[in-house]
Amino acid sequence: MKANVSRRTFVMSSGATLMAALMSACGGGQSGDAATPSDAAKQAGIDYMALVNKTHALPEGWEDAVEIVHFKNTEDWDVDVEAKAYDAYLALKEDLEADDVYVDLDSAYRSVAAQQEIVDDFTKKYGVEYVKQYVAVPGYSEHHTGLALDLFLIIDGKGVYENEDMVLYPELWSKIHAKLADHGFILRYLPQQKIETGYSYEPWHIRYLDDVEVASKIMEEGITLERYLDELDPMIADAEVDYASSKLYTEADIDSALEVVLAEFTSWTGCTLKRISYAGDDACTAEEIAWMNELREANTPDAEEFDQTLVFTSDFHSPSEKEAEGTAWEPDADYNNWTWHLGRVGADGGWQLMTWGY
Ligand SMILES: [Zn+2]
Repeated sequence: MKANVSRRTFVMSSGATLMAALMSACGGGQSGDAATPSDAAKQAGIDYMALVNKTHALPEGWEDAVEIVHFKNTEDWDVDVEAKAYDAYLALKEDLEADDVYVDLDSAYRSVAAQQEIVDDFTKKYGVEYVKQYVAVPGYSEHHTGLALDLFLIIDGKGVYENEDMVLYPELWSKIHAKLADHGFILRYLPQQKIETGYSYEPWHIRYLDDVEVASKIMEEGITLERYLDELDPMIADAEVDYASSKLYTEADIDSALEVVLAEFTSWTGCTLKRISYAGDDACTAEEIAWMNELREANTPDAEEFDQTLVFTSDFHSPSEKEAEGTAWEPDADYNNWTWHLGRVGADGGWQLMTWGY
């Protein structure tokens, strides 16, 4: 693997930082060498509106067609980025500097091969389960497009680029986000939209669309690219998600539990989710923990005891008469206040869905 960035090398060796980097949509990557494009593929060009997410792979032939430029940022890190996106980024940067907001580019293009190297490397070091949980599947990261850019902030001449530090400047990010559309960019991972994008909020991850009009519409409406392109799973497309407020859990904690619940729900053919809500800190009682541990004990008696629980309530609609045939669902009915119960061992333990129902 090409060690292109001193910070990346540091990230690779620091457990906590590593975890934080890999758990985000942007983590797990060093930029690889740009592919040498064939003339034909190059001429065909790329679709700047292409959707790449956890369920939509990088379109075939992309790496031959995409034109990548290479530069060194202010920290002397090597950065690769798609050519038009780079020009647009430079214009955005200049526009921001007029308002005394300073940004730089952390990472943009990463080849599928580079991501595969990371998977292989981490599988050796940490095992298959770890990789499955934290490292993006090669071919399914928006960074493969070269159109996804991770910004970092420069404050008083000093780079601020760790995720946990960058989130401390919401006013700066609002100023940045307000100018994105003028340059053909959108904010890609919105707050409380994991259900649609598959990722928690990342103020630094922006996406180039090469279309100011479309970018403006998306930013004005505050919608995800998935919704704009009408690519949402119909089972969850109309669902309202309520994160409520929590002193126990961060939005990312709730997101990771939501992901586990949705993985189960979307296997229930014909059901459509109407609402899902965090049931609140009051639902995380000693009795709930004891109950989760009873269920855990029945399945995996040797596993570590849960010390945290999380409950969601939800409303959904059951399958039509035809689709419900042979299932336990009452057909075409509303199921309201259906609950979902999860447990985990410590903050890094990973949520386990233990039971659901009334
Ligand atoms: Zn990113």
